[in-house]
Amino acid sequence: MNQEIKELIFNKIEAAPRIMLFRHVRNDGDCVGATKGLKRILQLTWPEKEIYLIDHETAKYLEFMGPEDEEVADEIYESALGIVLDTASEARISNKKYTLCRDLIKIDHHIPLENYGSTQWVEEERSSCCEMIVDFYSTFRDKLKIDSEAAGYLYTGMVTDSGRFKYSGVSGDTLRNAAVLLDVGVDTDTLFARLYLEAFEYLKFKAHIYNRMQVTPNGVAYIFVDKAMQEEFNLSLEQASAIIGNLDSIRGCISWIAFIESGDALGSIRVRLRSRFVHINSIAERYHGGGHACASGATVYSREEMEALLADTDALVKQYKETHEGWL
Ligand code: AMP
Repeated sequence: MNQEIKELIFNKIEAAPRIMLFRHVRNDGDCVGATKGLKRILQLTWPEKEIYLIDHETAKYLEFMGPEDEEVADEIYESALGIVLDTASEARISNKKYTLCRDLIKIDHHIPLENYGSTQWVEEERSSCCEMIVDFYSTFRDKLKIDSEAAGYLYTGMVTDSGRFKYSGVSGDTLRNAAVLLDVGVDTDTLFARLYLEAFEYLKFKAHIYNRMQVTPNGVAYIFVDKAMQEEFNLSLEQASAIIGNLDSIRGCISWIAFIESGDALGSIRVRLRSRFVHINSIAERYHGGGHACASGATVYSREEMEALLADTDALVKQYKETHEGWL
């Protein structure tokens, strides 16, 4: 798939002495894994090239993947080929200095909200951007080098963005690409322990969430994690946001939403929308957000807007249930 565009990207990379990699704000396993994995592949293949990955935020649960490069002078950016991974829109690129780069490539698996850069390789049916990087590696495997460090980064992104290979975006290609990484060598025991072990106190928070969650008339499960709750359980915004994954297994609830009060001056509330069968990205797009068909993010700025988003999702689910069979 997309052979020509991959060749164009390969040629641009091969010709560039200096390359900078970028990813999205509120980073996750996929954008961190894709940037670090691609960086490692490029460094192994072309040790003489300068490859930079500069990003000033790292999610706490991903700190085990290691720090990024120190900031550099603007002139370095200006002479670099920029590659933005896993980021649908320019507004979500975390290091804003990407605009300085002499040329920009976009590699992404989100529903495209806008085009940016001179070269775009977007495959929205891919379960992760890391899967695209593995595919890129496989396409040019006689020229590119990989090792278990790169494989570990990429496997982390594949695992986290596919819900441990559970989401509907997982295809035969996903597993074939994962197999490429396992053949190189990934310490899955350590990786899964790092990603999924939970603190005793966090389980107490989960119990609290299960007591407090609610369901709309047509089956949208939701929870509002306000600042008071975050303080009571001593949670970072990130830990509070992770609760979305715990609302995913309620029979009849084909969509579920977590609202996380951010505590900023704007009164913003982070919205994490998830679903099975029904597509909810149109709702996210209506509320300052976007994402995938069944996993999107948005932001609301008041309780009223939160209620409106819930009502919209409830109406969407109602319509879906009335017109489809076989949902659970
Ligand atoms: P989240 O719940 O924040 O993990 O978001 C779910 C998915 O939607 C991720 O793939 C995000 O990259 C994407 N997403 C979240 N917020 C936005 C946004 N404002 N615009 C576009 N995509 C988004």
